[in-house]
Amino acid sequence: MTHDFDLFVIGGGSAGVRCARIAAGHGARVGIAEARFWGGTCVNVGCVPKKLLVQAGEYGAWADDAAGFGWEIRKGPHDWAKLLEAKDREIGRLNAVYKRLLEAAGVAIFEAHASFADRHTIDMGEQRITAERIVIATGGHPVRPDIPGADLGIVSDDAFYLPVFPGRVAVVGSGYIAVEFAGIFASLGAEVDLVYRQPLPLRGFDQDLREALQEALLAQGIRLHPGCTPVKVETDGDEKVLTVSSGHGLRTDLVFFAVGRRPGTERLGLDRAGVQTSPVGAVKIDASLRTTAPHIYAIGDVTDRLNLTPVATAEGHALADALFGGKARQISLENVPTAVFTSPPIATVGLSEEVAALHGPVDVYVTRFTPMRHTISGRNRRTMMKLVVDQASQHVVGAHMLGEDAPEIMQGLAIAINCGATKADLDRTIGIHPTAAEEFVTLRTRTRVTGLAQAAD
Ligand code: FAD
Ligand code: NDP
Repeated sequence: MTHDFDLFVIGGGSAGVRCARIAAGHGARVGIAEARFWGGTCVNVGCVPKKLLVQAGEYGAWADDAAGFGWEIRKGPHDWAKLLEAKDREIGRLNAVYKRLLEAAGVAIFEAHASFADRHTIDMGEQRITAERIVIATGGHPVRPDIPGADLGIVSDDAFYLPVFPGRVAVVGSGYIAVEFAGIFASLGAEVDLVYRQPLPLRGFDQDLREALQEALLAQGIRLHPGCTPVKVETDGDEKVLTVSSGHGLRTDLVFFAVGRRPGTERLGLDRAGVQTSPVGAVKIDASLRTTAPHIYAIGDVTDRLNLTPVATAEGHALADALFGGKARQISLENVPTAVFTSPPIATVGLSEEVAALHGPVDVYVTRFTPMRHTISGRNRRTMMKLVVDQASQHVVGAHMLGEDAPEIMQGLAIAINCGATKADLDRTIGIHPTAAEEFVTLRTRTRVTGLAQAAD
């Protein structure tokens, strides 16, 4: 039977757009459906607008820092509406770019919600099409905790469209979104409470990094409430009251839930296509991104493994190459670098000290210092850099940094680590002076050795 399309992609986010474009470039007849916004989460309510807001906050602090360098800058109040207007203009431009790229590649585009009518048929309300192969790239969406009054709080999608900038914000959670937005709100002038159930923020990250972040959040004036879970939200006049497990009622203007995301597999009719999901709703896939239905694939956040844009696009590209370009290849999820855009930002690649130590003895190198700029600005902003080295092979297995430009610095280090760099390789590399980055090639004195006890077991 001849189908309308060789490939149909559901979801026009980072993963879906890349897959559709590359497949069309290989000569396939491709269609794509997007229900909400071209470019998906990253472009519209994720990485891009988030980073613009982070940068807005940075300008405010730089204006203060400048005094130490002899500049007299009188900082006026921040104009939230103007910032959102500029952000919306840029997002609008990017939406159009994504749509144009698809059209230029010859992809048939559908601005509609798509679901499976059967294994090869996609239902888009007014229209039905058939496709030989189908890709699920529907991403995910933020969730709220299951507590009374949860609807009185916002989630990250809402944070980009707040009509009024809040004077006080209580952020719940301590993952990427919670700590990034705590920083954004604080840097733009709000009083921020960060409520989280762990002793330190960013569970799963390196312990030294988490401690450095705790220090940085406090230095930014953010009030930390570790070991607390949210119990209920109530309204009291113009205020919101967030009751937490300690019994304390936090009075605030805005409660922001950043308690995770759920894969977008509801209302897709996956049962009609034979596609199975995990208990949290993630599409189950094998190493070649194939679902439990052999002609249906899933890429990006909807598979809920490493929910990052470059992973989503890499998977979309690899799948299109494998299906239509005669180039079967798999994306490795090892040593994927990642950044958290706090103030200052975090960047990391490879293993934390704690995980590396489970495999055997590791040499650990740590440095903490005040970056040159802040010796004069007077701002309490510290840098922490760390290398984790497998003692037996001397391979660098983890690099971690909290400090200015950390994400820019980590990209290069990630290449070195992916190439199997040893500590000696870093040591023989000449630094760039004066930078913070050069510390990664001048960390001569080992701070400690860990992992011995585990190795002896
Ligand atoms: P998405 O981008 O979510 O795209 C899925 C698309 O499918 C959406 O446009 C949706 O409307 C559409 N869709 C869903 N169901 C249907 C349907 N049935 N029919 C038609 N269309 C449908 N990652 C980073 O690497 N760096 C960052 O700095 C970063 N910051 C982030 C900040 C925030 C606040 C958030 C929420 C996420 C951030 N991420 C970041 C994660 C990143 O946004 C995601 O990993 C990435 O967008 C995943 O791409 P995707 O294509 O899998 O899904
Ligand atoms: P995360 O999974 O990173 O963090 C969720 C947070 O919510 C954790 O602190 C978790 O606590 C807490 N939590 C979960 N359930 C509850 C609950 N019922 N009550 C209280 N706290 C709860 O999710 P995010 O929403 O922050 O981000 C989603 C993903 O998006 C990230 O994992 C990342 O992949 C991606 N992202 C990437 C960014 C980047 O690259 N810079 C930026 C933003 C998002 P606990 O630790 O105790 O489980």
